[in-house]
Amino acid sequence: MSGVEPRRIAVVGGGITGVSAALFLQSDGHTVILFEPDEFGIGTSMGNAGVISLASCIPTAMPGIPARVPKMLLDPYGPLSIRWGYLPTLTPWLIAFLRNCTKDRARRNSLAKAALLDRAHAAYETLIAMADAEALVSRRGMMKVYETEADFEAARFEVELLQLTGRRYDVVTGDEIRQLEPGLAPIFSKGLFFDDNSGIVNPGRLVARFAETFLAKGGTVVAERVTNFHTSRPNTVITDAGTYKADTIVLAAGSWTARLASQLGARLMLDAERGYHVMLPHPETPLNRPIALTKHSVFLSPMEHGMRLTTGVELGGNEAPPDYTRARRMIGRVAPSVKGFRAEEQSAWLGFRPSTPSGVPYIGAVSGKPDVYVAAGGGHVGMTMGPISGRIISDLVAGRDPDIDLTPYRIDR
Ligand SMILES: Cc1cc2nc3c(=O)[nH]c(=O)nc-3n(C[C@H](O)[C@H](O)[C@H](O)COP(=O)(O)OP(=O)(O)OC[C@H]3O[C@@H](n4cnc5c(N)ncnc54)[C@H](O)[C@@H]3O)c2cc1C
Repeated sequence: MSGVEPRRIAVVGGGITGVSAALFLQSDGHTVILFEPDEFGIGTSMGNAGVISLASCIPTAMPGIPARVPKMLLDPYGPLSIRWGYLPTLTPWLIAFLRNCTKDRARRNSLAKAALLDRAHAAYETLIAMADAEALVSRRGMMKVYETEADFEAARFEVELLQLTGRRYDVVTGDEIRQLEPGLAPIFSKGLFFDDNSGIVNPGRLVARFAETFLAKGGTVVAERVTNFHTSRPNTVITDAGTYKADTIVLAAGSWTARLASQLGARLMLDAERGYHVMLPHPETPLNRPIALTKHSVFLSPMEHGMRLTTGVELGGNEAPPDYTRARRMIGRVAPSVKGFRAEEQSAWLGFRPSTPSGVPYIGAVSGKPDVYVAAGGGHVGMTMGPISGRIISDLVAGRDPDIDLTPYRIDR
């Protein structure tokens, strides 16, 4: 028995954040209803690079980025593109992003992310054990590789942030890279190796396994889209097909959370950093772990069903249809980095990173509505942060000390 007063709780969104929150809340003895209109494990929490990246404290908003944006946008192989029709909607987010591109802000944002990442591993382990999902996680670390000393030198401030936040890493030489990853072409001179990172070999299956575990333990899934709320005691969740009473509501709908939160009077600075992947066959010598090819801003991740190439950022909101051109272009671009590279595309996919301008997620109660919580905004590391965000929400609902200063993640910040 958890000793927590049981409530009826509606969790909105069945990506990694929502299913994690549902499992932790259920463990406290609450009656949990999870609203997810789509199948589990097909959305953003499926198609990512699969890195449980305790190292990824570095925000996207970094000094030097504003000056590099024009070049990035003009480069057909660059890490950033914009759907220009979306620019008016995006402008407030972009301005806030640019304001975060200072050294001081980057240090502050890294520390806020790192405090969550420090607790992310334990939260994941709890859920992996609960769902008997160990086979879906490969514990061989993650590596960022640089072709030239100059490229590595250019990442000096990133390394400073890794040190500031106490990340665990080793600087590795070209020879060490070749030993760790014999499948990479011998063109890399320096690398950062993070031995405490893990690779999820099929993120979609992991989310689906968590959802199955929730169901097996008596949870309820409602395959309907939430459209609105009435906040009174108890609260009401309104969907496209019905209404449901709940004492407590948890919004964990990824990049769609901002729209839902606005119905409750909360203004979140949250937008979609769209990202693509293409699945390729494993190369001649499969990679041992996810590899960040820093020159191309892509990850190559060995999955149980092939090698996944994930791309940079497309700013364009949730509605615009996918355009796989750039992701496909990257296939030829990265081919020389891997021995025996096989370029036959098996599938292509678009996902929506739920991103704040600072890279720091929202986790906490909505002001003036103590029975409504938000967990969203994990951005580039949302797959890593999902379980810890869910655990913190369960602590807040239970009135337990979450063992972390939640000020940086406040909803009304
Ligand atoms: C290319 C790419 C690579 C990435 N690589 C990594 C990585 O290696 N490591 C890492 O940690 N992170 C990575 N990420 C980021 C990570 O995938 C996301 O941050 C994370 O999956 C977000 O999870 P979420 O549960 O918050 O949101 P989502 O996975 O988007 O889930 C939100 C859910 O809410 C549902 N929903 C939406 N609206 C409603 C509604 N009205 N009613 C009910 N349900 C609703 C949606 O259907 C969806 O299932 C990557 C992302 C991309 C795109």
